[in-house]
Amino acid sequence: MQKNYCKLLTNGLSFHQKNVRYCTTLQLGEIISTYEEKPKELAYKIKEQRNRIKNALNNNIIPEGCKDCIYRNTENVLNEKIQRIDLYYWYHCNCGCFYCSYRDETKGEFSDKIKYGNPKIYQTIKELYKLNEIDLNYLYVNVGGGEIGVLKEFPKLVDLFLKHNLNFSTCESSGIRYLKSVEKLLKKGKGSITVAVCCGSRNIYKKIKQRDKYLQVMKNLKRYVSAAKKYKENPHNTDNVVSKYIILKGFNDNIEEVEKWLLESKKYGLTCVEISMEYCWGIHTKQGQKVEDYNYTIFDYAEKRTKELGLLLRKNLTSVALMEQGTY
Ligand code: SF4
Ligand code: SF4
Repeated sequence: MQKNYCKLLTNGLSFHQKNVRYCTTLQLGEIISTYEEKPKELAYKIKEQRNRIKNALNNNIIPEGCKDCIYRNTENVLNEKIQRIDLYYWYHCNCGCFYCSYRDETKGEFSDKIKYGNPKIYQTIKELYKLNEIDLNYLYVNVGGGEIGVLKEFPKLVDLFLKHNLNFSTCESSGIRYLKSVEKLLKKGKGSITVAVCCGSRNIYKKIKQRDKYLQVMKNLKRYVSAAKKYKENPHNTDNVVSKYIILKGFNDNIEEVEKWLLESKKYGLTCVEISMEYCWGIHTKQGQKVEDYNYTIFDYAEKRTKELGLLLRKNLTSVALMEQGTY
């Protein structure tokens, strides 16, 4: 029988900085653990909680934190294994974006030092594979952060997922460090990387990111594009290397910078770009404010120019929804 719920409750798992949940949304959802357990115990707890949730859903009981969630749909409750894992469990980064939503935690500090995020999570995922909780036929992994380039266990995590037949992964990176593990994913057609460059010039990059690394980032993107080309089974695999432009008031909210960004993306061999409003920071500070006009102007311009330049444009989906709504 169909129930009004969200599939992430039966097939999602999300490791956050402070807790393990079923989803990575701005909704609170249901918390499984706050990491008090050892990896083996945590894996068992996840298994138990997943079973409890499925039983509850079958009895029409929706978890408290999901009751007002906008992402619920009417579907059958299936006895699925974990098919989606989100990794958003550390803050450490090698970049200092002024708009970073983790600034309360990091106090704006960043470094190139490679550090462990939480080694318990790698062990827990290994245990979940032993418990047969993760789907070996389909797994999508979504990695946010912090920065994967300074996350010590990132290469081990990539190898673990690849060993168990990962279907596809998406990750975000500052792009400052070139990562062999991302190269490996691109060459196998098993992943994509998105780098928020947010400009087409060194001086604006430095203002936004607090680091003078524009050229290094662009060269790294070019190397990722070369790696993506090595995957012969998909001629569009280079679209998995994405330069993102987050529109930031007073920094890059003008057509001139967007034009430079598009031309530079083309020059460095990129085939896909993404345009986005800035909303994480905005949601904290604004609450109900009108979406600024420059967002609409820039989205329209990016649409027109990418067509002329032969670039694939992705429009950030949350931004599109907020722009349709008109407030955020
Ligand atoms: S219903 Fe909403 S809050 Fe609950 S798991 Fe799904 S997306 Fe997350
Ligand atoms: S790259 Fe991402 S995590 Fe790092 S400072 Fe910028 S927004 Fe924050």
